[in-house]
Amino acid sequence: MTDLIIIGGGPIGIACGLEAKKKGISYKILEKGPIVNSLFNYPVNMQFFSSSERLEIDGIPFISNEAKPKRNEALEYYRRIVTSNDLNLQLFERVTSIVKAGEVFSVTTPKATYSARNVIIATGFYDLPNPLNVPGEDLPKV
Ligand SMILES: Cc1cc2nc3c(=O)[nH]c(=O)nc-3n(C[C@H](O)[C@H](O)[C@H](O)COP(=O)(O)OP(=O)(O)OC[C@H]3O[C@@H](n4cnc5c(N)ncnc54)[C@H](O)[C@@H]3O)c2cc1C
Repeated sequence: MTDLIIIGGGPIGIACGLEAKKKGISYKILEKGPIVNSLFNYPVNMQFFSSSERLEIDGIPFISNEAKPKRNEALEYYRRIVTSNDLNLQLFERVTSIVKAGEVFSVTTPKATYSARNVIIATGFYDLPNPLNVPGEDLPKV
């Protein structure tokens, strides 16, 4: 039993995990892919619209080569936050259901069912593209 389960290991899930850790709340982050999976799947040379300081979490400096960082720099930034803060993040574990019985949530993945007193859903939506149904859109380079 943990105090908190956070679903999604994107920037928001990571920020929630950092806050939980600082406050001594027991927590677990469940992520269906790698760290910041949405960003991982962006085009390789993608450059953010925001300047790096606007993407920072918890005031941790985000230094980039140009004012607006690239995907790879963001991947490295968030990965370093997870490792240097030793965040409790379980990767490649997709949440398939959440059931509440009394005051306890049961959160199920293909690997296990976890119990928690609170749940944060930080699943975003940027990892769910809207397909155009045009030929070739499912190729790995697209
Ligand atoms: C091309 C592009 C450029 C962008 N540029 C900017 C920018 O310049 N500035 C800006 O602020 N924003 C930008 N965005 C948006 C930015 O990516 C989002 O604001 C940010 O990713 C939101 O973070 P999040 O944690 O809420 O969601 P996400 O990053 O989407 O994270 C959600 C996470 O939840 C995981 N997840 C989903 N379902 C489950 C499940 N069932 N079980 C477990 N895990 C699950 C996903 O794998 C994902 O890792 C851009 C987006 C795109 C596509």
